[in-house]
Amino acid sequence: MKTPIPALLLCAASACLAGIDPGNFDTTVKPQDDFYQYAVGGWLKKTQIPANRAGYGSAYEVYDRNQAILRGIVEKAAAAKDPGFIEKLVGDFYSSGMDLATVDSVGVAPLKPEFDRIGAIQSPADIPAEVGHLQRLGVGACLAFGSEPDPKDSSMVIAGMGQGGLGLPDRDYYLRDDEASKSLREKYVAHVARMFELAGSSPDGARDRAQAVMRIELALAKGSKSAADLRDPVANYHKMPLSELAKLTPHLDWVPFFAGIGLDAPASLDVGQPDFVKALDAQVAAAPVDDWKAYFEWHLLHDNARYLSTPFVDENFSFFGTALYGTPKMRERPERVLVVLDESVGEALGQLYVAQAFPPEAKARMLRLVANIHAALRDRIEHLEWMDEPTRAAALAKLDAMGVKVGYPDKWIDYSTLVIDRGPYVLNVLRASEFATKRDLAKIGKPVDRTQWQMTPPTVNAYYDPPMNQIVFPAGFLQPPYFDASADDAVNYGAVGCIIGHEMTHGFDDEGRQFDAKGNLADWWTPESEKRFKERAAGIVRQFSGYVGAGGLHVNGELTQGENIADLGGIKLSYTALMMALGDRPRVRIDGFTPEQRFFLSFANVWREKQRPESEQEQMNTDPHSPSRFRVNGPLSNLQEFADAFGVPEGAPMRRPAADRVAIW
Ligand SMILES: [Zn+2]
Repeated sequence: MKTPIPALLLCAASACLAGIDPGNFDTTVKPQDDFYQYAVGGWLKKTQIPANRAGYGSAYEVYDRNQAILRGIVEKAAAAKDPGFIEKLVGDFYSSGMDLATVDSVGVAPLKPEFDRIGAIQSPADIPAEVGHLQRLGVGACLAFGSEPDPKDSSMVIAGMGQGGLGLPDRDYYLRDDEASKSLREKYVAHVARMFELAGSSPDGARDRAQAVMRIELALAKGSKSAADLRDPVANYHKMPLSELAKLTPHLDWVPFFAGIGLDAPASLDVGQPDFVKALDAQVAAAPVDDWKAYFEWHLLHDNARYLSTPFVDENFSFFGTALYGTPKMRERPERVLVVLDESVGEALGQLYVAQAFPPEAKARMLRLVANIHAALRDRIEHLEWMDEPTRAAALAKLDAMGVKVGYPDKWIDYSTLVIDRGPYVLNVLRASEFATKRDLAKIGKPVDRTQWQMTPPTVNAYYDPPMNQIVFPAGFLQPPYFDASADDAVNYGAVGCIIGHEMTHGFDDEGRQFDAKGNLADWWTPESEKRFKERAAGIVRQFSGYVGAGGLHVNGELTQGENIADLGGIKLSYTALMMALGDRPRVRIDGFTPEQRFFLSFANVWREKQRPESEQEQMNTDPHSPSRFRVNGPLSNLQEFADAFGVPEGAPMRRPAADRVAIW
């Protein structure tokens, strides 16, 4: 339920194998005017976004390299004569996904028992059981439900319920009334109707049912909080006895819901957004049962479209790939199946991946970097002039308690009860989803298992987990240009160092700072220090709200403030750590650049990214990360260290006036 805070989105930036490639520069632009353009403008000019991508950059390059490794692994597993358990699981799953002849010939038939269940719904009283049943299969109908560490007692796992149930990525897609949003909604309803037709509805029936879906989703969207408002962990925590939830939802009986999902009704749970469950309850009372049947069928089809026959896959891509992200072409089937494999049984695939692609030396060097950045943050906190002593002591306690995970879990998920065979593909995915739900629900009422991971080992990303107070770096991420064993310190601190610092700072951003050393939602700030923190955070919100991206959209300064605070803090910390590492040694220039300059060039290089306008708009609407060029120029224009490194004069765009500059960590 409570999602970790990821460092990067997959559409992040790009790579050269050792250090910085001068071919990426655009020397017609001065560093002081637009550093991002200077550092990677040459790359932007020469790079074409592949037709099957929403963008291109470092993260894509690393991702593509990982895909090549993974593909070798799964093909070998699928062909193995005498495979071990994990190899067989992965090989069979992959084979079922690649067996397009079977996938196409069975069509939607494997879902028939599910359609029959939905068809048998007679009255509103049957709705909760179906919602629970669909949730058990991983279909996100009506709401989000699962386990979470209790935000007020992070040693224990409780049940959590939150807003959800939408087909479009965020509630704002339903609520905005500009022309582009209206047109996208029309395309969405047409898409829902075509999916119904593919599943056997008449054209007229499909249209009417798609309208019914839109009516229900619009009502749920109206009852939902904005993405920015979901960032407040206190405002989104409402642990209550089940009897209190029942009072909020007089038309919903939760007993059959829990029976459907496969959980003994918990005595209490965290209802993240009580207004949302009230809106859901009102819809259950108001919407005709036939509308609900359409809604359930749609979510069943939507969540499984990628594993069904070609017409479903194509129709799904035409809306969610092309209309929403502007991507003209789908990725090749092997790559798509690998994505599903990673989502479904990622720790099985991950075991084979790390055995081949993650040397123990990488982990050791990474842990050393983490220790150095930790020391830099400790030093910063000890000397922050805006923080008073009681808050400083608590901040240091939190930093010292922060855990780190690198590479892969010490204890793997046990898949021995999961049945995977050579087909049909969609049934493998559904069984894996059910397995994941069962595993997740089994945690409720037990102590938190701190060894568990939220991302799989091949993932090209990293995260901070507030209730665990842990920073986590999967093996898939620890590669050039993020992490390069052959590069000098300046390059590595400018790249992975800034990201380590970024993750640590998440423990102290607008959201993370509300959790204490143990990961409990507890206020450890004195009013004076809190006031000063908020003044500084407001400066970041103002700065980023001024940036304008694709389609004339402004960056949402509130939504992105945590990531922007983490970016600014990450660079500052990693730079400090680099200075500690260099000490008094003479500054040796490489390719004409000082270590200080190479640090910032490496940072920009990591974030180089070219993105389709539709994809950038989608990101700006829903994602807490700002577009890459702002993630480079935004923080650097606040930093005196950057101005000094490149001799940026007062008044230049890359040097914000002293009064506007933001410094937090
Ligand atoms: Zn982050």
